[in-house]
Amino acid sequence: MSQNRRDFLKNLAAIGGLSMVNVSLLAKNFENKKMNSISRNSKMKLSWMPYDLQLKHTFTISNFSRTITPVVLTQLEYDGLTGYGEASLPPYLGESQASVIAFLEKVDLSGFNDPMNMEEILTYVDTIAENNTAAKASVDIALHDLVGKIIGKPWYQLWGLNKNDVPPTTFTIGIDTDDVVKQKVQEVKGQFKILKVKLGGREDKRMIEAIRAVTDLPLTVDANQGWKDRLQALDMIYWLKDKGVVMVEQPFPKYKLDEIARLTEESPLPVFADESVQRLHDVERMKGVFSGINIKLMKCTGMREAWKMKNLAQALGMKVMIGCMTETSCAISAAVQLSPGMDFADLDGALLIQNDPFDGAKLIDGKMISSDLPGIGIKKR
Ligand code: MG
Repeated sequence: MSQNRRDFLKNLAAIGGLSMVNVSLLAKNFENKKMNSISRNSKMKLSWMPYDLQLKHTFTISNFSRTITPVVLTQLEYDGLTGYGEASLPPYLGESQASVIAFLEKVDLSGFNDPMNMEEILTYVDTIAENNTAAKASVDIALHDLVGKIIGKPWYQLWGLNKNDVPPTTFTIGIDTDDVVKQKVQEVKGQFKILKVKLGGREDKRMIEAIRAVTDLPLTVDANQGWKDRLQALDMIYWLKDKGVVMVEQPFPKYKLDEIARLTEESPLPVFADESVQRLHDVERMKGVFSGINIKLMKCTGMREAWKMKNLAQALGMKVMIGCMTETSCAISAAVQLSPGMDFADLDGALLIQNDPFDGAKLIDGKMISSDLPGIGIKKR
């Protein structure tokens, strides 16, 4: 065994979640390929570009509307290959194109010769500054795409997952007038098997009734921390269950964990954490508080930590869901790699924009399914 091949296998085994079976299979596939294609002398080159996503519909939360979502698209070049990444920056989360670019300007990869050393590289990126989770995700996703392309496999395969074993994705319906709500549901008729409804106020029952007037599809509900009282919330959950709702997301403010734990215990529907859980270190204390967690690449720094969160939550006996922001097919396809085996998927982000620069995971029979391309499974349009 040549030194190069030994190094390669060692690095490959170091990738979290890769079984030795997969490693030996990959090694076999590699027999006939030139090992020196992984040059030890190449350097990784990170570049970025701010980009505004044009939304198909005006997006309204409370009394704030917007028609664009700013993102930063990243590229990580190495040895003739390019990995693509993305930071999505909805304004309410505190990062901006300027803050992402300021962060990326600090990323110095000159000390790393080998993209396969993902753990070292991404640990370094995480220590550059606190927070900046979307900026960090833009490097993480690009590195995963690059490494998948070096190996020649999509990540769902490297993780040993079946790309078709995914839950149907929800399509999100925002708070709006009855007519708009009904029209939105009619527009996507036949495309989705489950819908997600934004609630959290006095108009919750009206919203549900409006949707029920036009569809029998199962619903999930996202209260976005908007409910106040535990007994009222419990009444509402029983009512929602009768209306065909199958799950409730973030009923109370994120820090009210005792209230949420009591509600979860009494709730006839699973209760999921979104705002209450950001990163890996949050997962363990959610056990006994929520039934499950909503993992999003933009809040947890990317695929590497999302994969760890999924495995930890499932090991703790919790359910898992994968969510998104408004994103291009880049970040969505990255999230899709993780979605096999999840309980819920909310990956409609790229379906809401008009100017997606990438082609990747596709909506097939209500599910977001990865392509067979290596890495995160995308190509430029
Ligand atoms: Mg949510």
